[in-house]
Amino acid sequence: MNRDIFNIALTIDVDSDFFDSSLSQPMKGEMQWNGIETGIPLLVETFKKYKDSFGNPVKITWFIRVDNQLKGIYEHAAYLLIKYRKLWEKFEENGDEIGWHPHLYRKLEGKWIQETRPSYIKQDLKESYKAMIEAGFCPICSRIGEAFHSNEIMIELFRLGIKIDSTAMPGRVRIDTERHIDWKGTPYGPYYPSMTDYRLPGKKGDRIGILEVPMSMIETKTEYDKKSLKRYVDLSFRNHVMKDGLEAHIRNNDYLLSISHPSTILPLYNINHPLVSYDIAEVEKNLNTIISKCNILEKRIQFITVSEFLYKK
Ligand SMILES: [Zn+2]
Repeated sequence: MNRDIFNIALTIDVDSDFFDSSLSQPMKGEMQWNGIETGIPLLVETFKKYKDSFGNPVKITWFIRVDNQLKGIYEHAAYLLIKYRKLWEKFEENGDEIGWHPHLYRKLEGKWIQETRPSYIKQDLKESYKAMIEAGFCPICSRIGEAFHSNEIMIELFRLGIKIDSTAMPGRVRIDTERHIDWKGTPYGPYYPSMTDYRLPGKKGDRIGILEVPMSMIETKTEYDKKSLKRYVDLSFRNHVMKDGLEAHIRNNDYLLSISHPSTILPLYNINHPLVSYDIAEVEKNLNTIISKCNILEKRIQFITVSEFLYKK
């Protein structure tokens, strides 16, 4: 990448409200979508205040849920694409990108849990991809829900026509009854994954033709952390938790890829969370931190979609 240009890819995962199972309303109950109805318009209004160094507006990559859990609940995997079609089409016209965000679950004794069986995953991905195409959308970028991934998923995504994936959280490992996250050894920058280990760059002849672009990970420290911890950049995180890490990241890198959820900028939870703000004002503070740091370092800002990384290497 060109050293004096700083690329910013802002991504939004269009998940249901209360998607975070650690906040006690996991993926089981009835889904609510205040994030789409109220959160997205607020985000769009906020983003309108910004332009990059080339005079272009903010570009967003919207990762939208299309998967068999939605099919189970709403009878159509592409429920969100269809119900809010006008919104997504308007975003595409404005230069945003629509990406695919499948959560891979299965129902076991009335509870949705992570699907880990390769043959079922393959089938779920195939069916959901078909539903997307039939709904008139043809995404080339993806992000798997819950940061779950596997060799089989990477290969199946490639087979379906996905060219770029942004699921990796370098260094994050958590394998227990709720989560199955394993990004051990993953590099911080874009790579073509090995056929035999999705977490690592493949050597010549052992590469899957999907560019994996990891989320930017920065040092953060909340009041409940004993020591600082690398977390992904979420614009809804409190600015005072992220500011130093963000600035260090901008100093040492040539791109930033953030991830946010439309529900965590709304005051949906009646709690004062030390990390997640539930406040659109913090989104603005974080964007201001990013932009002013780039200006100080004389880096020219360019807003890009996730797919544009394909042309940056
Ligand atoms: Zn998600």
